[in-house]
Amino acid sequence: MAKSPVNFVETPVADLYGSNCFSDVVMRERLPKAIYKEVKKVQTGEIELTPTVADVVAGAIRDWAIERGATHFTHWFQPLTGLTAEKHDSFISPTADGRAIMEFSGKELIQGEPDASSFPSGGLRATFEARGYTAWDVNSPAFLKEDSTGVTLYIPTAFISYHGEALDKKVPLLRSMEALSIQAIRILRALGNTGSKRVVTTLGPEQEYFLVDKELADARLDLVLTGRTLFGARPPKGQEMEDHYFGNIKDRVFGFMRELNTELWKLGIPAKTQHNEVAPNQFELATIFTSSNVATDWNQLVMETMKRIAPRHGLTALLHEKPFAGVNGSGKHNNWSISTDDGINLLEPGSSPHDNAQFLVFLAAVIKAVDVYAPLLRASAANTGNDHRLGANEAPPAIISMFLGDVLSDMLDKLAKGQPVKTGAKTKLEIGVTSMPKLPKDLTDRNRTSPFAFTGNKFEFRMVASSESVATPNTILNTMVSEVLSEFADILEKAKDIPGAIKEIVIQTYKEHKRIIYNGNNYSESWVKEAEKRGLPHIRSTVEALPEFATPGTVKLFAKHGILKKEELESRKVIYLEKYIKQINIEARTMVNMANREIFPAVFSYAGEVGANIGSVKSVSADIDVSAEENLLKEIMENLKNLKEHTKALESLIAEGEDTEGDIYKHALFYKDHIFAKMSGVRYYADKLETLVDKSSWPFPAYEDLLFRL
Ligand code: ADP
Ligand code: MG
Repeated sequence: MAKSPVNFVETPVADLYGSNCFSDVVMRERLPKAIYKEVKKVQTGEIELTPTVADVVAGAIRDWAIERGATHFTHWFQPLTGLTAEKHDSFISPTADGRAIMEFSGKELIQGEPDASSFPSGGLRATFEARGYTAWDVNSPAFLKEDSTGVTLYIPTAFISYHGEALDKKVPLLRSMEALSIQAIRILRALGNTGSKRVVTTLGPEQEYFLVDKELADARLDLVLTGRTLFGARPPKGQEMEDHYFGNIKDRVFGFMRELNTELWKLGIPAKTQHNEVAPNQFELATIFTSSNVATDWNQLVMETMKRIAPRHGLTALLHEKPFAGVNGSGKHNNWSISTDDGINLLEPGSSPHDNAQFLVFLAAVIKAVDVYAPLLRASAANTGNDHRLGANEAPPAIISMFLGDVLSDMLDKLAKGQPVKTGAKTKLEIGVTSMPKLPKDLTDRNRTSPFAFTGNKFEFRMVASSESVATPNTILNTMVSEVLSEFADILEKAKDIPGAIKEIVIQTYKEHKRIIYNGNNYSESWVKEAEKRGLPHIRSTVEALPEFATPGTVKLFAKHGILKKEELESRKVIYLEKYIKQINIEARTMVNMANREIFPAVFSYAGEVGANIGSVKSVSADIDVSAEENLLKEIMENLKNLKEHTKALESLIAEGEDTEGDIYKHALFYKDHIFAKMSGVRYYADKLETLVDKSSWPFPAYEDLLFRL
């Protein structure tokens, strides 16, 4: 088994940290002062990047990468597959006399041209050229990726079409950050802030995942092809003992985590906390927050590194939202906040009256945005895997609501009713007049069931799918909040009495949108009913959620803030629906394959053995009672017959699904209502059979081994 790759006594973490990252420090060291200063200005959007500066930066990056042994570079981008993509070029440039020099120009740094034609375009390709360009994201540092034999230079980029349509998840994210900055600055100016120049959204995702023994995982076609188990009888033990959460970390898992941390630290990714999660063999890793675009790159790298490192420890990392039925699935907690360039967290309750007013305006904006755009926010967490979690009696529910905690809710309530609000200092809260007590953190985050919780100085969106890029949820979050901020800014910019206008905004927003606030248990049946009474949308499935990407409301919202155009949104909806159809199709076909070629033959030959045994026992004496074995055989054959029937039915549905053309939404609905639904029938009989036959006859590893043997 792999040992820790680094001895931290000999190599202090401080030396190792960021050693594979062309970070700000490295850039300052390696660039002429004037050029460095220009790059910083490019990063804050003050000036455009010039070819001269680009050439100097490219030269510095090249020298740094070559010193570290790199021969190739790649533009690294995030197409709509949800994965990352890369096409490698060597630095090699042949000379006339048969030698080679290592070159990397400013142009190669800034722009690449991968062939876009095989990435999903959702119909955009019909209208636009297939050509796609990658453009350097100046705010996300270049890095070196180490594989087992060498290193490669990676340049984080955005991916756009010839005509400027976004072909990836990064472009809209960057645009949404820009939009939010513009609107937030308007508010800040109206409140008298003249110092802050820009506002950035911050993001700190917590990543959940499972680890299973690689040999066991490789023996299951479902895990290999779909990332989740399509069969598996309930094991004698699940998560009911609650003994895994925060439990001792096993040695082998430590080995994995240690190497994972090391690799991430080298990339300059601040992996911070790690622990055992609720389900057996489930774990979590959280990185320290940073600006949303960089955090998004980091999270992609966290997921990729997990998958790459696990086999070195004889493990497979599963990032699927629901690898195992019967125990918790995985999600990603999206910790989100808004900060100014001069370090003010705008969602931090203040200690001065002025900060207070500022906090309440931004809080009100989030409350309104989450209520008005709840369906779109729900859609941002929709994917095939998450359908097993959201709304399926697992955390969190599919209904968007917001947790503010009793202290804050009570304060808003009293404010709205015109009642005096007692603050900690026994003074009354009058916006702009009195300070608000710093909200104690433990008071604000006791509710773990809320899909969108205020946690002291940030919001935690807990619906996000574990395997997906965080780009889309954050794009949507930023855009919808931008819109409400722009509405508030319109009012504040005209207001004569700013404290009065703020008070009006906060009170009115609270009154109109308090239905979205819910501090109770989100998993309870009573909440589902209560939410319905409040008129909150309850979108149960991915298929029903995805059209939200292109409703007239979304189109208007995204157009106003320059995030995505109608065609781009339409194409995204189509791509995500197509992805759903393809995933369910693969799952269904894998199921049929395993049922027909693994389960059926194994069970039938086991049944043959039982039959032969009954015969041979009976041949000793006809008086021996073999009814138990006969009943077993009958039960097996009965279930086997049902398994076959359901598998056949599933096969016909797949054939029908694959033959269907036309409306993509109806097609996806067919997959959900018929194919996905039928899959549970097949599983039911297979799982039943698993409990009836000899364990050694079962064709693939069982849940108890996958979940408990490490
Ligand atoms: P907890 O959720 O247990 O209260 P923390 O407060 O440490 O834990 O935060 C958990 C996650 O939230 C971490 O990934 C952290 O980086 C992130 N986080 C903290 N502050 C912010 C912020 N201002 N913006 C975005 N993410 C944040
Ligand atoms: Mg958390």
